[in-house]
Amino acid sequence: MLLDWYDAHARDLPWRVPPDRSRAGERADPYRVWLSEIMLQQTTVAAVRPYFERFTTRWPAVDDLAGAADEDVMAAWAGLGYYARARNLLKCARAVVQDHDDRFPDSEAALLGLPGIGPYTAAAIASIAFGRRAVVVDGNVERVMARFGAVETPLPAAKPELKALAAKFTPDDRPGDHAQALMDLGATVCTPKSPACGACPVQSGCKARAAGLAADLPRKSPKARKPERVGIAYVLRDPQGRIYLERRAEKGLLGGMLGFPTGDWSDNLADDSPPVRARWRDSKLTVRHVFTHFALTLHIHVADAAPEGLNGQWLAPGAARGALPTVMRKVLDAVEPPREPEAPHTAG
Ligand code: SF4
Repeated sequence: MLLDWYDAHARDLPWRVPPDRSRAGERADPYRVWLSEIMLQQTTVAAVRPYFERFTTRWPAVDDLAGAADEDVMAAWAGLGYYARARNLLKCARAVVQDHDDRFPDSEAALLGLPGIGPYTAAAIASIAFGRRAVVVDGNVERVMARFGAVETPLPAAKPELKALAAKFTPDDRPGDHAQALMDLGATVCTPKSPACGACPVQSGCKARAAGLAADLPRKSPKARKPERVGIAYVLRDPQGRIYLERRAEKGLLGGMLGFPTGDWSDNLADDSPPVRARWRDSKLTVRHVFTHFALTLHIHVADAAPEGLNGQWLAPGAARGALPTVMRKVLDAVEPPREPEAPHTAG
């Protein structure tokens, strides 16, 4: 039933083998499945699509990516967020090349040994690229399972129960398509706010629908409020209008990415001091960015100076914009709003 629905309604995604070809025995390229799954963590399909296209055009196979310069990959990832993923992406590609002869291993256990691959991604690659019967449970699948089985235990405590339920329904035949069918069902029919039960291929067995509970599940434990942090972003501009950027330390938030110098981000600004002596002034501009574990307000201080002894890079704002992570791009946009593209000239 679910696979019939998938055969007719599968989303057309660039990392997928469509159902007609999959039924004929074609499997998705493990490199593309892996890359898409890493990109899709905490990120929407719409945001991932152009990044995926750019990455696979520039680095079509895992050994191409393994041979890429770190800074090129970090710059190509800029704007997609959760930058530890990009660092692990490189480590994983290099491990596949060095330890596995350029080929992703085909079992969940071996995939789990690679950097940045957790249980969900290992199961997704094993099932979608290698046809293994693996239980693939992402947020969409959890929602579908909670509703299908009318599981009232709140998340995250319900996770093991939902995984056991998903395991019960995972078939031996076409397990990869089954996993993708459930993901699609959650993304397009059994949506978070208003599930379209009337169009659902599993409605006859769905306990939440029968009980009138569909839109109320899954239940969730109340979220703790995110802590607030503050900091200062220091924007130096030289006489040519270039801005000064530094590559952040490898470890930690935004590790390895370019950015404006900042102090530590804490609950007050008392200990913040500029990275170099210059005539700093408070621009009174601020930007706000919400990370996974805290919300940040950055106050922007500016100075028109090019002091000696700096180890970073001076870049024109237009050239820097594409290489900056989102929070730093917000800072740049606040001090140097992006130019509107010029209107084309009309003949006459
Ligand atoms: Fe979700 Fe409704 Fe389908 Fe149940 S019947 S799985 S609630 S869309």
